[in-house]
Amino acid sequence: TTSGVRSGAEQPPSARIDPSVPHPARRYDYWLGGKDNFAADRQSGDAVAAAYPPIRTTVIENRRFMHRAARYLAGTAGIRQFLDIGTGIPTSPNMHEVAQEIAADTRVAYVDNDPIVLAHARALLTSTPQGATAYIDADLRDPERILSHPDVRATIDLDRPVGLMLVAILHFLTDADDPYGITRRLVEALPSGSYVVISHATTDLVPPEVAVHAAPAIATSMIDMAIRTRDEFAAFFDGLELVPPGISPITEWRPEVPPEQRPPAAQASMYAAVARKP
Ligand code: SAH
Repeated sequence: TTSGVRSGAEQPPSARIDPSVPHPARRYDYWLGGKDNFAADRQSGDAVAAAYPPIRTTVIENRRFMHRAARYLAGTAGIRQFLDIGTGIPTSPNMHEVAQEIAADTRVAYVDNDPIVLAHARALLTSTPQGATAYIDADLRDPERILSHPDVRATIDLDRPVGLMLVAILHFLTDADDPYGITRRLVEALPSGSYVVISHATTDLVPPEVAVHAAPAIATSMIDMAIRTRDEFAAFFDGLELVPPGISPITEWRPEVPPEQRPPAAQASMYAAVARKP
């Protein structure tokens, strides 16, 4: 069964799309080589690429990490329900396709706040008949709305373990948005045996002469981002049990290929980790 796409807003999603302002979802799509982006997104993406040329490698590796983490949760950890916040524009394979290949009865609630993701959400509603997918137009900064949303509740049973995916989204929340409090609130709502998957931008893995260009490049790119250190990343997992290998460069989290077949960490400067709620 697949629930429908419902927007919280009165207008159609297209009325909320502003092509003149760069958006994270469209810029990510640009870096991945997609076509659902506008000139402002490409300009923003190029501003980041000028300071950090391997950004395209980085987003591809982030996507690969998401696939490995989804397979780990669906396989080894036996997770059958996922809450994926910051889904992005549908990109094959999507999370539910990866997990349902392992367990056809997997249920996924997708959440994003970008109207262009909402406009494309039908591509996410391609569940197996045994499983389910839903798309919820909501903001990570309002965790109560996500947790109480009828379409989330219809898809996910909060009394059974959940895989909470916060993949390449928390760096869009500044400290003023309280990303740690929001993550804690979401984890609190999940039962013991649930898992949290996080990836996050950092400059720790690049040489200082590259890192020094990050702040000006972010300013020019017109999309606010919080680049965090290893300690700041680790704080998202307070009270949780990190799954081996713990906090890693995204290329090094349970890689399925030998070192010579994956880029060095400096070419994909993001941290990744998966943790279990005890
Ligand atoms: N998780 C996907 C996409 C990452 S791109 C992946 O790793 O491949 C980041 C996504 O987060 C974008 O789609 C963007 O629209 C979404 N996003 C950013 N801030 C958000 C917020 N406050 N609430 C909900 N979604 C948000």
